[in-house]
Amino acid sequence: MAITRPKGTNDFMPDEVLSWQYMENILRDLCKQFGYMELRTPIFEDTELFIRGVGDTTDIVQKEMYTFTDQGNRSLTLRPEGTASTVRAYLEHKMFAVSQPTKLYYMGPMFRCEKPQAGRYRQFHQFGVEFFGSNSSAADAEVISLAWEFYQRLGLKGLEVRLNSVGCPNCRPIHRKALQEFLKPHFEELCSSCQSRFEKNPLRILDCKSPVCQKIVENAPTTIDCLCEECQEHFAGVKSYLDAVKIPYHLDPHLVRGLDYYTNTAFEILVTEIGAQSAICGGGRYNGLVKEVGGSNTPGVGFALGMERAFAAMAAQGITLPTKEKFDLYFAPLNEEADHLCFMWLTALRSQGIACEKDYMNRSLKAQMKYADKIHAPYVVIVGDSELADQKAVLRCMANAQQKEIDFVNLIDSLVEMVNGGKENE
Ligand code: ATP
Ligand code: MG
Repeated sequence: MAITRPKGTNDFMPDEVLSWQYMENILRDLCKQFGYMELRTPIFEDTELFIRGVGDTTDIVQKEMYTFTDQGNRSLTLRPEGTASTVRAYLEHKMFAVSQPTKLYYMGPMFRCEKPQAGRYRQFHQFGVEFFGSNSSAADAEVISLAWEFYQRLGLKGLEVRLNSVGCPNCRPIHRKALQEFLKPHFEELCSSCQSRFEKNPLRILDCKSPVCQKIVENAPTTIDCLCEECQEHFAGVKSYLDAVKIPYHLDPHLVRGLDYYTNTAFEILVTEIGAQSAICGGGRYNGLVKEVGGSNTPGVGFALGMERAFAAMAAQGITLPTKEKFDLYFAPLNEEADHLCFMWLTALRSQGIACEKDYMNRSLKAQMKYADKIHAPYVVIVGDSELADQKAVLRCMANAQQKEIDFVNLIDSLVEMVNGGKENE
């Protein structure tokens, strides 16, 4: 039986890769303009990093990690997300020791052993940013505005930013107590996961997907109700910066991130057209995370967005991206001597930055012209017996079928001039 790709993974065919490169270029430009530098970390890490950095009560760590033991009996895990590795590198390379803030981004494949479905894969791609070293509300607003600007540049419409604040280690115990008191009379009705969350992590009950739990928590006390003064101020700051740059947002008091190291801002960006998997971006502040991974108290805020889901949203909204690479020239040699000559010219022109191609299949002239058309080459250089005798090649313009002769001695110079001149006039 033929071997196929593993379940939940994708091959991106060359035409699709052009769209990926287009999206990646938008992201790189954006990061340059916003002042984020790219960090590249290993695809696998010590399993312990994710247990600490993602949290041992999360779905990711409990159910979704690709963990293996290597020949040296080390437990390693394919990275399920990018923040833990970024924090590790931030500490390992003492990035905190230079003037702050440190603004980093990453982009690449992540691995989660989930049930594959539309918009949910086992190998998928995330772009994410992390802003370390500042607790300013403007940093939260900046990362949200970076994500927002990205989707604007893709041309997406109808996005919804959901915003909340989950408070800090000072105000959260107050909320926890109020929430438990509110939920106590309904304990028996909660789903079994939420019953076990009741003691360990009641905050997560607020975003349980079960309709019964959702109904119960409808009027439950929210983190917003319990924010301390400092957290209230921080949240007001985030909202005022977003207002200043006219980024619309909806307050969603049930948007929570259940772990202790998440503080203050939590946000998500949704696009409704892509069905159940409508979250295209998620992020927030994590002032306790760097310490959790082994550093000293360092504020941080960031997000991760799913690149496949951005493509899905574009497809749903009918936005298309370039899917063809352009050639400047095609060489059509008609005998072996001509073939050597064309190969030489091809090489010389490529070294001058011109995209060109030649026949490699010993095709007839007619078949070569058809092929040149197929690859969208605007010009074809034809060399056969008579051209060799005259030391002149035929240059054919595919758009209007006009032909002219070019002396072999001037060929490179005139083709370079023609192609570059054409580019200037585009
Ligand atoms: P979900 O609720 O959809 O499982 P999540 O909370 O697990 O999302 P994060 O860990 O915050 O998601 O990851 C950020 C983004 O990465 C998501 O908003 C989504 O766009 C994307 N993403 C997450 N898991 C997958 C996956 N298995 N396949 C494709 N994209 C994904
Ligand atoms: Mg998930």
